[in-house]
Amino acid sequence: MNLPGFPPMPDFPAGEVWLAGAGPGDPRLLTLLALHALATADDIVHDALVDPRVLGLKRADAELIPAGKRGGRPSPHQRDINEILIERARAGRRVLRLKGGDPFVFGRGWDEASALIAAGIRFRVIPGVTAGLAAAALAGIPATTRETNHAVVLAAGHRAEDDGSTAEDWAALAKLGQPIILYMPMTQLPEIVTALLQGGLAKETPAALLQSATTENERVMESTLGALVDDARRNEIGSPAILVIGAIVGLRRQLLSHLIGWR
Ligand code: SAH
Repeated sequence: MNLPGFPPMPDFPAGEVWLAGAGPGDPRLLTLLALHALATADDIVHDALVDPRVLGLKRADAELIPAGKRGGRPSPHQRDINEILIERARAGRRVLRLKGGDPFVFGRGWDEASALIAAGIRFRVIPGVTAGLAAAALAGIPATTRETNHAVVLAAGHRAEDDGSTAEDWAALAKLGQPIILYMPMTQLPEIVTALLQGGLAKETPAALLQSATTENERVMESTLGALVDDARRNEIGSPAILVIGAIVGLRRQLLSHLIGWR
């Protein structure tokens, strides 16, 4: 894996856990470090969202352990995932914990890192290309431009039920007046849109749903905040999707004439 003129790839010693991001899907968006980790690991504990094409890059004899947390479906408890990582590392395996996007962006990387620390296990973090920024860029939506925004909000639509979040939290985000890139928007789409409108965002605010970016199922649906819920239903947009709200969505029109599509 070492490339001429590049810093050498780190050793992956037995008993270590590497928490790595796999990017939004297409394996060409992996980092070189994630590729190195895939080619080296004994055990790969992966999320449901990690693309099969990425998992195909593993060593032929490496073990795949699915551990996806997926909203709305039965999924292993976070404690059980932590336990698998700890057990495998203690058994002297080189454990790659592979997550969609970036491990520390709505990816529970913190929970797992904390559990590893409590168990006395050393770990490395390999950042990944996060889905929100990648999906937006590939659809022709710049996260920031000097003309439109000096900040951008990354937010999660679907959260743990008991976190106490309320419509006021969405209203507070609306009042920032900055574009919002929303992960996991689909399960509570009508509630979120209503709260943002009540918080002061105009019905005409441009919005786009970006489904399954960089995969075969990729779809882009442009709309406005007021029409979003109906348009999403009519077009049968499903998860995983990113919702982008704000003036940056309107810039897409200007880029599309010369923007080369993905693939
Ligand atoms: N750690 C991940 C996010 C995990 S939360 C990251 O940094 O990207 C899961 C959410 O990510 C999904 O509900 C969806 O909102 C988003 N997502 C992941 N992959 C995606 C893709 N290929 N296209 C669109 N959204 C995606």
